[in-house]
Parts: sequence; C-alpha cells; structure tokens
Amino acid sequence: SFDFAARVERVEPSATLAISNKASELEAEGVDVVDLSVGEPDFPTPGNIVEAGQDAMDAGHTGYTPSNGIPRLRDAISEKLRGDGIDADSDEVIVTPGGKQALFETFQTLIDDGDEVVLMDPAWVSYEAMTKLAGGSLNRVDLAPYDFQLEPALDDLAAAVSDDTELLVVNSPSNPTGAVYTEAAFEGVRDLAVDHDITVISDEIYQRVTYGVDQPSLAAFDGMGERTVTINGFSKAYSMTGWRLGYLHAPEALASQAAKLHSHSVSCAVNFVQHAGVEAIENTDDAVTEMRDAFRERRDMLADLFAGHDVDVPVGDGAFYMMLPVAADDQSWCAGAIEDAHVATVPGSAFGSPGYARISYAASEDRLREAVDRLVAEGYL
Ligand code: PLP
Repeated sequence: SFDFAARVERVEPSATLAISNKASELEAEGVDVVDLSVGEPDFPTPGNIVEAGQDAMDAGHTGYTPSNGIPRLRDAISEKLRGDGIDADSDEVIVTPGGKQALFETFQTLIDDGDEVVLMDPAWVSYEAMTKLAGGSLNRVDLAPYDFQLEPALDDLAAAVSDDTELLVVNSPSNPTGAVYTEAAFEGVRDLAVDHDITVISDEIYQRVTYGVDQPSLAAFDGMGERTVTINGFSKAYSMTGWRLGYLHAPEALASQAAKLHSHSVSCAVNFVQHAGVEAIENTDDAVTEMRDAFRERRDMLADLFAGHDVDVPVGDGAFYMMLPVAADDQSWCAGAIEDAHVATVPGSAFGSPGYARISYAASEDRLREAVDRLVAEGYL
C-alpha cells in the first residue's frame, strides 16, 4: 500500500464535489437541476478577449513565457494596481494560472509547520486546505453573528490575532457571503497587522463585482504596502474561469521567494492566455459593467423573492453569492434540496458556517425564480 504524505492526508476533498457529483448524477438520469452551487459567471468570455487569445495563438505565442509572466501583462497589471493606489512595480507581480495558484504559492512561501493563519468565517474553502497543506494551524473568527460584516467584528479579530499570527486572510467582496468590508474595517485590519507585524493576504478576486460601492485595495492603506499580498485574477471580473489566469502582487522580497515555487511548479501561465489578459485589462470595461449590472438585478430579485417568503437573507454588496439561513443541519438541508427540489447549493459548514446554504446567483432570473418556486413547493423555504 502507499505511504501517503501527511500533508495530503490532512485535507479533505472539496466539499462542493459531493454536491456537483450529485447534480451530475441526477442530470444523467434526465432530471433538470437548477445548479446554484457553482462559483462562476454564466456569461461567455467577452468577444474582444476571445479574439485576442485567438490572434495570439495565430501569431505563434504558444511557447513558454518568462516564468513570472510576459512583460506587457505584468506592466498592465502593475499599472492597474497603481490606479488602485498600490505602490506596485512590474517586478513585484507574478502571473499565475488562476488566482488559486497565486494563493497556493503565497501560503507555501509564508507558512511553516505550526504557523498560525487567521481566517474569518465563513471563509472560502481553499484557505483552510492551503493552510493545512503548508502545515499551518488555523484560528478562525466568526462573522456570522455580525451579518458577515467585519467592522463590528474587529474586537473579535483583535482577540484572535497576536504576535504569533503569521498570516491573516481578508477576502472582500467575500465568497461565500457577498459582503464588502468597510473602509473602517480595513483600517482596523491595518492597525492590527501593523501592531503585531502580520502579513496579510488580500484576496480581491471579486473586486470588480460590486454594487454601488467601491472596494478599496488593502495594500493601498498606510503601512500595508510592505506587508500585503494582493491576489486578483480574470475569472470573475471577465468571465474567464476556464482560461486560468490570475496574479499576485507582493513586496519584492516576498515575490522573489514565491517566484521560486512558481518556476518549479507551473513554469508559467499559458502564453496566449496572457496576451488575452492584456486585452481584458485594457479594453473590457463595458462588458464588466454589463455583467455587474446583471448580477445586481439578480441579487435584488432573489432577495425580494426570499423576503416574500419571510426569509431574511443578509445581502452583501458584491460577488454573486448569498448565504441563505437554513436548518441547523445544513448538510442535510442541502442534500434534501438537491434530492427533492433539484436545486443545488453548498452547505455553509463547508465554509465554517453551519446553518446556511450558499447560493450562487450567477444564473438567469428565470432559473433563480424556478429555484425559489421549487424550494417552496418542496417545503424547503
Ligand atoms: N478566491 C476566491 C475567494 C474565489 O472564490 C476563487 C474562485 O472561486 C478564487 C480565489 C480563485 O479563482 P481562480 O483560480 O479561478 O482565479
């Protein structure tokens, strides 16, 4: 038998897998499943980006690139970051196959056995897995009592972090809650990070999916530039999930350590995809705005539908998720909802918050209405 490494034995397979397996199983039987479990925009990638990718392929951009990314894209990214108030240089940017890889490289670069990572629950599932894979220990702050906002939870966060904290992960707009943290919340994070000399990951992958509010970049706050790893990517803003393109920005000393992992693992992100990324950053504002407006309408419609059934859902100002309060045993609720109502959602416990089901509203208004009707008909709402 195999003698598996402790690091893989420490982690569980993605909790969303059970749901998507079940959804596929039902679909194979001919059942029409409303799948609200997936975290991806339902729009096609904007045409100008597809064309730029095709042109790049035709032009022969099919070989390896410099490990950290093609200069044009790193320049476009650092310019974008400077626009967000971050003192960024192209040399501090690593272009990765997806934001997930950027996060993975950051955890591997910073976390040693026993190092403490602080998360705010509910937290995106992979932060826990990445911590465990790196050998770190978790310390979690619960935002559920505060309607998932960070500002009212700052005292709890202050109680959780200490000089022993190596890394704090901030994700705003948040997956799975959609919450956008306030400026005061970011200032609170800054004060704690500076006081305790903590490195902070700011996962800003949903930065451009906000409704009527702006999401500032944490690294732009005084004192944060030298201790923040900014994560972003193209999946959510430009509907490019399958292209696999993201990046990290970090102080040069950190970026150059992460670059070693990068070069010895993925080598580089896909060449022609990086060219498409330049087009995305430079010429896609209208499509981004259109998608964002569509998400906003769906969010409002869905919240109204829930309210019509006396379900009060904390509605965030970003991303395309909401956490629906369900039975204490959220896993059974989700299993039942897919089995009986054929509506797929993800149990909140997968994110550290039992009692909720995460709903992705990156689906058409018709499908969202259908989902609510079915949940009501089967007694789930
Ligand atoms: N961070 C968060 C919070 C996410 O929800 C996701 C995707 O679901 C990612 C990072 C990674 O996205 P990608 O690897 O597609 O860029």
